[in-house]
Amino acid sequence: PYDVLVIGGGPAGSSAAIYAARKGIRTGIVAERFGGQILDTLSIENFISVKETEGPKLAQALEEHVKQYNIDVMNLQRAKRLEKRDLIEVELENGAVLKSKSVIISTGARWRNINVPGEQEFKNKGVAYCPHCDGPLFAGKDVAVIGGGNSGIEAAIDLAGIVNHVTVLEFNSELKADEVLQKRLYSLPNVAVHTNAQTKEITGKDKVNGITYVDRETNEEHHVELAGVFVQIGLVPNTDWLEGTLERNRMGEIIVDKRGGTTIPGVFAAGDCTDSAYNQIIISMGSGATAALGAFDYMIRNTEE
Ligand code: FAD
Repeated sequence: PYDVLVIGGGPAGSSAAIYAARKGIRTGIVAERFGGQILDTLSIENFISVKETEGPKLAQALEEHVKQYNIDVMNLQRAKRLEKRDLIEVELENGAVLKSKSVIISTGARWRNINVPGEQEFKNKGVAYCPHCDGPLFAGKDVAVIGGGNSGIEAAIDLAGIVNHVTVLEFNSELKADEVLQKRLYSLPNVAVHTNAQTKEITGKDKVNGITYVDRETNEEHHVELAGVFVQIGLVPNTDWLEGTLERNRMGEIIVDKRGGTTIPGVFAAGDCTDSAYNQIIISMGSGATAALGAFDYMIRNTEE
């Protein structure tokens, strides 16, 4: 069996695997797609000490760093079931069952797509999902935020301080964000809010040049010229496969303690799949390190040679 088996090969999982392997213990990492979300990221400017890099470059650096150690890398493999017996068992989609004394879950999350024409085509060419990451790329320009929940309105407030103008599009008849956020939003001079607005298309040539929406009350179509669209309709943790095992919150995020521990002894979690307050590369790497140290601590106390 493994001492530590990491499920997920993004920033959190890579960090966890390296920290575990450096303790000289048997470490494995299973990843559906090694690199994770950063493979879909163009420019990264907030990975502290690296002024600027690109997602695929950082993913390659992660993989090289992991391969520097004696770590079993099982790429292109998806975990589908976890069960605690004497050891913790993880079953893969291909039928294999891996056993380990401790497990670190770092299966990340995915942004919910709006699924309108232009979204896929202009990803990283004006279509963005993370205001902390990509907001500054639109300094002085006009942008739209799709989604009037907390994350959408937080994004709009954040962006209004950086960009020229923000248009908020909400499908329903009112914003769902907390009252205090709405108040803040409406106090800003460079924001327009459209409710009952159904996004129809993100337009552009080589990059985004506008957005088309339908006013659901009048059925009229409107087009707004702008340079960027932030889709803020939810971040979904990749934890469905854990249904009925460990405790998750209402959003499906795994609840962790300060060592990354979950409600199953020996099972730890890190990164975007957990209930951490913020989702960023530097944060998920930190929590991966925490979970690995937590797992090591657990092992030296609870398992025999
Ligand atoms: P992920 O990166 O999501 O990795 C999850 C891993 O688990 C992947 O390897 C995946 O294939 C694997 N996996 C999932 N399910 C299973 C399963 N059942 N079995 C096996 N493996 C599985 N953050 C920044 O700090 N700066 C930025 O500039 C920035 N820009 C971003 C731009 C975009 C477009 C996006 C989408 C995100 C951006 N982020 C940015 C956020 C950052 O990418 C995430 O916070 C970070 O990648 C989270 O790391 P993670 O390891 O927790 O999860």
